[in-house]
Amino acid sequence: MTTLPSSLPKLSDPDVKRTYGVDCSIGATAPEEFEVVRARDRDDVVEVMRFAAATGTPVVPQGARTGLNGACVPGEGAIVLNTEALRGIELIDPVDGIAVAGPGIVTDEFKKVVRAEGMFYPPDPASSATSTLGGNVATNAGGLCCVKYGVTADYIRGLEVVLPGGEVVNTGRRTAKSSAGLDLTGLFLASEGTLGVITQVVTKLIPAPDDALTALATFSDLAAAAQAIVALRRDPNPPCLLEFLDAPSIEAVQALADYGFPTGCEAALLVQADRPGHVAEDTQRYAGVMESFGADEIAVADDAMEADALLAGRRALNTALEAKGPNLIEDMCVPIRQLPTIVLQGREIGARHGLQVSMSGHGGDGNLHPSIFFDPTSADSTAAAHAAFSDMVDLTLRLGGTISGEHGIGTFKAPYLRRQVGQAGLERMLAIRAVFDPQGLMNPGKTYTYPAL
Ligand SMILES: Cc1cc2nc3c(=O)[nH]c(=O)nc-3n(C[C@H](O)[C@H](O)[C@H](O)COP(=O)(O)OP(=O)(O)OC[C@H]3O[C@@H](n4cnc5c(N)ncnc54)[C@H](O)[C@@H]3O)c2cc1C
Repeated sequence: MTTLPSSLPKLSDPDVKRTYGVDCSIGATAPEEFEVVRARDRDDVVEVMRFAAATGTPVVPQGARTGLNGACVPGEGAIVLNTEALRGIELIDPVDGIAVAGPGIVTDEFKKVVRAEGMFYPPDPASSATSTLGGNVATNAGGLCCVKYGVTADYIRGLEVVLPGGEVVNTGRRTAKSSAGLDLTGLFLASEGTLGVITQVVTKLIPAPDDALTALATFSDLAAAAQAIVALRRDPNPPCLLEFLDAPSIEAVQALADYGFPTGCEAALLVQADRPGHVAEDTQRYAGVMESFGADEIAVADDAMEADALLAGRRALNTALEAKGPNLIEDMCVPIRQLPTIVLQGREIGARHGLQVSMSGHGGDGNLHPSIFFDPTSADSTAAAHAAFSDMVDLTLRLGGTISGEHGIGTFKAPYLRRQVGQAGLERMLAIRAVFDPQGLMNPGKTYTYPAL
C-alpha cells in the first residue's frame, strides 16, 4: 500500500497494530496489510483524509473497538484512523445544558466529569467503561437507561466532522434551539464511519437525577413478566431501567457465581427508579406492579449499596454468556408487547437448528440480545448459527421490529439490512453517502455500503 506521510503518528509494531485490526465481534480477523494512525488532534485527521483522497485509500474511523459487528475492522490496504486520543473536554455549560468534548473520551469518564458539575449525560451502553463518545455517536448506542432517557441520538446537539478530502464541517447547534437548515447531525448518528470522521461532539446535558434504587423480581411465567413490563411502561413515572433476563441467561449468571436468583424461574426483571425526591416511593410502586402480575420473589433495595448488589447479576451477564461458550450476540428490537413472542419463538428457532439461544436485554425497550450458542470450530454448527440468525431477522421484521436496536449493522448484519429498509431505502442511503464521499473511501463494506447490497 502507499506509504503514509512521515508526519503522521502511525503504529509500527505489528503485534500492537493487529489489536487495532479487530473489534469485539466473534471471529473478527485483522487484515494482512493495513496502517493505523492514532490521531493526536484534528490536524492529523485532516492530513489523513487529504492523503486518502489523493491516493484513493480507504479510511476506517475507530474508537475503542468495543463494537460487536465488525464495524471498525479494516479491509486490506485501509488506514485505521483511531480517535481515542482526541479526548479533551472543552466546555461544560449547565445553563445551556451542553458539553463539548472530543470523540475519544471514554463514555464513563465523560459521564463522571459531567456529574461532578451536577449534570447528567444519560446514555450508558453496558460497555461504557471502555467505549468512546465518538463510537457511541457513530453507532447511536443505547444502554440500560434508554427506557426513560432515550438513546445517544437524543443527546447529540452538534458535531465537528472532517469529511473525505479534509474539509471540516460543523453540524447542529450549541444553542437551546435552532431551525437553520437540514439536520446534518442526524445523518452521522448510526453512520458507522461511512460519512466522515467525528472530531468533536456537542452533547445535551440534563440536571442529575437522584441515586437510583433497584427492585428485582423473578417469575415462573414468562408471559406474566412481559405483562408486568407493559404495565411498568405505562406508569406515569416510569422506571429509569427495566432489564429482562430469561431462564438460560439466569442459569448462565448463576453458573458464574451466586447472584441470588432462585433456580427454575423463567424470567427476572430488574427495575430502577431515580426521580428526584421520589426514589423509594417509585421503587416500591414498581415492586407492587410486579407482585400484582404474579412475581414469585421480589427484593427491594433500601440504599445505593443494595441497589448495586441487586443489579450485579445483570452486570455480570456479558461475562457469564462468554463463559458459557462462543455465541453470536444479537440486537433485535421489537414492539414491547411482542416480547414474549420473540422470546418463545426465538427459542423455537434455536431448537430447530439444534442450538441453544438465550434472550436477555433491555426489556423495557423491547430490545433483546439473543445469544446463539454454537461451535465455531465446526462448519455445520457455524452454518446453523447463521441460519438461526437469519430466521430471527425474519421473525423480528414480522413482529414489526428492527434488526438493530443499538449495536449497529457493521459487516455481520449488512447482508440482512435490505430486508428491513428495502432496495429503495438502500439506494437513498447510498445516494446520501455519495454527496459526502464521492470516492466511496469511508469505511467501505460496512452497513448499507456492503457490496452485496
Ligand atoms: C461487553 C459489551 C457490552 C456492550 N453493550 C452495549 C450496550 O448496552 N449498548 C450499545 O449500544 N452497545 C453496546 N456494546 C457495543 C459497543 O460498545 C458500542 O457499539 C459502542 O458505541 C462502540 O464504541 P467504540 O468507541 O468502541 O467504537 P468502535 O467499536 O471503535 O467503532 C464503532 C463504529 O463507530 C465508528 N466510529 C468510531 N469512532 C468514530 C469517529 N470518531 N468518527 C466516525 N466514526 C467513528 C467506527 O467506524 C465503527 O463504525 C457493547 C459491547 C460490549 C463489548
